[in-house]
Amino acid sequence: MQNVYFDNGATTKVLPQIATAMADAMVNNYGNPSSIYRLGQQGKEVLDDARERVAELLTASPKEIIFTGGGSEGDTMLLRGVAQAFSTKGKHIVTTAVEHHAILHTCQQLEKEGFTVTYLPVDEQGLVAPETVEAALTKETILISVMYANNEIGTIMPIKEIGAIARKHGILFHTDAVQAAGHIPIDVQADNIDLLTLTAHKFHGPKGTGAVYIRQGITLKPLIYGGAQEKGLRAGTENTSGILGLGLACSHAVEHMLENRRKITALRNKLIDGIRSNISGVRLNGHQEQRLPNNVNFSISDIEGETLLLLLDLAGIAASSGSACSAGALDPSHVLLAIGLSPELARGSLRLTLSEFTTEEEVDYLLVELPKIVERLRFSQLGIKKIGKVEKDVKLR
Ligand SMILES: *Cc1c(COP(=O)(O)O)cnc(C)c1O
Repeated sequence: MQNVYFDNGATTKVLPQIATAMADAMVNNYGNPSSIYRLGQQGKEVLDDARERVAELLTASPKEIIFTGGGSEGDTMLLRGVAQAFSTKGKHIVTTAVEHHAILHTCQQLEKEGFTVTYLPVDEQGLVAPETVEAALTKETILISVMYANNEIGTIMPIKEIGAIARKHGILFHTDAVQAAGHIPIDVQADNIDLLTLTAHKFHGPKGTGAVYIRQGITLKPLIYGGAQEKGLRAGTENTSGILGLGLACSHAVEHMLENRRKITALRNKLIDGIRSNISGVRLNGHQEQRLPNNVNFSISDIEGETLLLLLDLAGIAASSGSACSAGALDPSHVLLAIGLSPELARGSLRLTLSEFTTEEEVDYLLVELPKIVERLRFSQLGIKKIGKVEKDVKLR
């Protein structure tokens, strides 16, 4: 049995050279960046250097980069930071129905605090139409938040067009770019982005470290109060080793993006074609072309996602499904429901996400194992249905 990892949309392996550099920094470069002695200043140099590396990834200026504790924190910081700083101007926020829960749950909390939020629908490919964004704006709108690419189905949103609409109306535009950053080119200037979230662990950096981009001239309310770190927006002694890892992951992404995109896209296409031709009753979710290079998401009829994941795990395959088991009940994904899938089909979904470490052998292995598992599951499901029918017949008599 092999051990293959197809859940890079959930998190990725840290690049070994980054792990080594971080371990060295923890032991040898542990000074507090706020201290004036040399060891402290060396810590500050780590921050300055990493800020440049993050800025380069986004075509931003280092002054516009604030380090955070990851994607959820960054999303919360920006949404709440805007809401609190601009509530005298208006209390309306426009977002989409397919955002990550870090956005959706923050919006729901803001609604409890007196804000109004419009959750825009998407089409069957997962795209929000720029016209619907524009139509949703009111005099009260202070923020538009649309994710760069969807974490479940990989659809890449029309960010540039939405950014242009936001600019035209003088409204701030935020994008959760957690799935896109480090994977596809992002240019905050060309894309008209005012605020952006990213996190290191989705592109081979450490967990619990991320950054937000805040366009120069925008002043937000802080998320964490205390010291003056990160322009007073996020108090607390900086996670220097984590930030070092984030910076190195950004540079690695910049350097290898083109070749990795090419390689990963080819493997992804092989996976998609292989699943389509070896399993009946499958449907590729998300946009056919405008999707992340590493994302595959299929709905498989007459399959229950959670059971599929268990059997895949027994075969050494790590993947994720379109349902989350909460309190013993299977909740179909809000994203799959939003693109029009029935709850039943949404529960039978499989997400496979690749990385630069994914090999052709792993793809081949999956293409051998998955059809066998699906066939077995469908066969036993058929059996269960038959038994259910017999029991019903018995009861009727
Ligand atoms: C993973 C993810 C997040 C959360 O990032 P964390 O660093 O795990 O907090 C937010 N948004 C999207 C789209 C994600 O995929």
